[in-house]
Amino acid sequence: MPRVLTARFMHETNTFSRVPTDIANIRRRDFHLENEIPVAFRGTRSALGATFEAADKFDWTLLHPVSANPNPSGTVSDDAFEQITGMILGAVDAKGPIDGVLLHLHGAMVSESHEDAEGEFLARLRKRIGPEAPVVVTLDLHANVTRAMADNASALIAYRTYPHIDQYERAWQGAELLQRAMRGEIRPKTVIARRPMLYGLDHGRTQQGPMAELISRGEALEQSGGALVVSICAGFSRANIRDVGPSVTVTVDGGSPQGQTIAEEFMDYAWATRDFTTVKLLSVAEAVALARRGVPGEKPLVVADYTDNPGGGGYGDATAFLKGLVEAGAESVAFHAICDPEAVLQGMRAGIGAKTTLALGGKTDPAMGGLPLALHGEVVCLTNGRFIAYGPMGGGVERNYGPSMVFRVDGIDVIVITNNGQATDLAQFTSLGVDPTRYRTVAVKSMQHFRAAFEPIAREVVLVDTGALCSEIYTPELFTRVRRPIWPLDPIPDPHAL
Ligand SMILES: [Zn+2]
Repeated sequence: MPRVLTARFMHETNTFSRVPTDIANIRRRDFHLENEIPVAFRGTRSALGATFEAADKFDWTLLHPVSANPNPSGTVSDDAFEQITGMILGAVDAKGPIDGVLLHLHGAMVSESHEDAEGEFLARLRKRIGPEAPVVVTLDLHANVTRAMADNASALIAYRTYPHIDQYERAWQGAELLQRAMRGEIRPKTVIARRPMLYGLDHGRTQQGPMAELISRGEALEQSGGALVVSICAGFSRANIRDVGPSVTVTVDGGSPQGQTIAEEFMDYAWATRDFTTVKLLSVAEAVALARRGVPGEKPLVVADYTDNPGGGGYGDATAFLKGLVEAGAESVAFHAICDPEAVLQGMRAGIGAKTTLALGGKTDPAMGGLPLALHGEVVCLTNGRFIAYGPMGGGVERNYGPSMVFRVDGIDVIVITNNGQATDLAQFTSLGVDPTRYRTVAVKSMQHFRAAFEPIAREVVLVDTGALCSEIYTPELFTRVRRPIWPLDPIPDPHAL
């Protein structure tokens, strides 16, 4: 029986965040060791769910030392990086030899010592297991993919949906490729192409536009046998690192030169379409005006705070939109969420039914989306913040937002959470007794992922700009470490002339 190592270590690092990602932060939610992992993921539509199914099908002996998926936040501490990667590399030493590896990584992790944390980890793993054993890696489509990642993995398989709802399918694709490689049927090698772009591909939106076009071209090549895998990554642009930006990686059998040609052609298209965007942001005043327009009985207006997206490293405690709603006396609003552990504790001390005044949000950095808001309201629900997510991005996996509260401020039900996280599942409301379909306005904090669960219940969806941490600001003063020249910071008449 082949011995296969699997692990999940995913972090999207927003290097502009002042929230450090240390080991305590990583252990806070979605963290499992060894035998806890099958209990948490077997039977779910997740990457690890698919991995366990594949191990059954292919008769693998599966080693699974760790699964860690902290919410996006600031730079990962060296200690945390060494501890988690050490668990994975330690499994090679203790339980090897290993015939193959199937990893689930994000691809945009930055640690104190390594801007390309995944590249560093994959290089160490490659050194440990030798040049022959195949290493297949699934990635988020917001990965900042590097040459070190392509060189040290046999194949990189990025998600093809945003909202990301195909982790299960991509993991199965990886498992099948790994099985063929372990049997010696193929020898996958991966090449990469990039352009001097800080962002592009409509930040990865897959509904229409250049990302959808390249994904469909890539799938056609996979089906015709022109490549084993074609992965398009939009990159994650809230990262002040040298290798930020979009990429195309192509995996071919035995290192055929055709791979690089395909990757370069695809990146030429990404370069030509770099300006394309489907994102339109409203001001707080515009979004508040829309929220006041709803009438009873209609489906809700869904307003997403794009710039305080916890899924991009936003603090989740920006108050600017909530302030606008309160001041306008908006009625029938369900608001998710203010991440504020201190306020939840005060609500718990006050108890359900208590009327009290709380200072909500704005505590991490008041310059990012508003000051703490002093609000008088009623504590109407308290929970431990744990529930099973059931929507398209939920996969049937447990979520843990820590102690959570509904605080009712006149016509606005404000959900307050302890563990930061963007709204991607209706259960983030319903687990607290809030049925979002029965409100005229539903406010969430998210750029795009909310759409999978919330578009079907919405009469209209709009995005609001509260000036929080994930604002799309690209200046040389912010991006001091990126390779130069790079678009849009520098004029680049011809990227091939560099
Ligand atoms: Zn992503």
